[in-house]
Amino acid sequence: MSESRKQLENALADGPFPGDVTRAVFQHLISLKAAGVTELPKSDGIVEFPGLIHETKTEYEGPSTSVGNRAQPAISSTSTIETSEHKEPADSGKLFSPSLSQTIFENTPSYGPTVDTAERPAQLQIVQDQVAACTACGELASTRTQTVFGVGTSSPRLVFVGEAPGADEDRLGEPFVGAAGQLLTKIIGAMGLGRDDVYILNTLKCRPPGNRNPKEEELRNCCQFAERQLEILQPEFICCLGSIAAKTLLNSKQSIGRMRGTFYRWRGSQVLVTYHPAYLLRTPNAKRLVWDDMKLLMHEMGLKT
Ligand code: SF4
Repeated sequence: MSESRKQLENALADGPFPGDVTRAVFQHLISLKAAGVTELPKSDGIVEFPGLIHETKTEYEGPSTSVGNRAQPAISSTSTIETSEHKEPADSGKLFSPSLSQTIFENTPSYGPTVDTAERPAQLQIVQDQVAACTACGELASTRTQTVFGVGTSSPRLVFVGEAPGADEDRLGEPFVGAAGQLLTKIIGAMGLGRDDVYILNTLKCRPPGNRNPKEEELRNCCQFAERQLEILQPEFICCLGSIAAKTLLNSKQSIGRMRGTFYRWRGSQVLVTYHPAYLLRTPNAKRLVWDDMKLLMHEMGLKT
């Protein structure tokens, strides 16, 4: 046995490479070396992924995000969540490091022609009127007080996409105005922005009765409206709040914990995924993870972190 093979096998036995997968990779490398293979081709950065393709992009070189000295935004709330929705997985505490690779999914066509800024309010109003008249989901159409379309500037760099209206939103006709909405407003403020600087919309435009989770059929019926809003707004960045928005927009089955920390591409927008503010109301420890996400977003947007 060669000296280098002995060293490698000792390293496998002693660490720092615990785990069957890593062990199997190194054992395969040993086999290749024994077979005379001395070089492996470099990766071209394209990695196959279930149903999608993602491309290795740049290294994140933003500020250090170690937990001990992480700057925290002034986000706090004593409110309690009023529904059973937004159950994010408990394994979701992925922390970012400055060397984290960002990747982009290329899974959708580009945006169509840019809609002139002056024409956007009228274009949005056309879609809003169609939403208000929509009865595609019989149960939702018969139980809603009103549809909840979207709010914010018609020239946003950043659009937040949530899940569905709750009781407050159904009553007032505006997304994110309840306890979770107030927390989102604080998050936006901690980014150095105001609600008027962004656009906020939900994937579903009608409140599910009892704030139950949206049904797949309802999401299929309604996602066309969110897509048309985004097609008119054509933001540089989209932030998906919660798994419903992320999975619907990106057609992914992954958990938020797995999707965080990656910029995906949806048409012409870079998309970042994070937890829904309603989840943060009952899981305060997750706020620092969301702040990590927002710092990544701010860094990519060129905002001061
Ligand atoms: Fe129409 Fe969307 Fe409301 Fe369903 S949820 S009735 S698709 S507006």
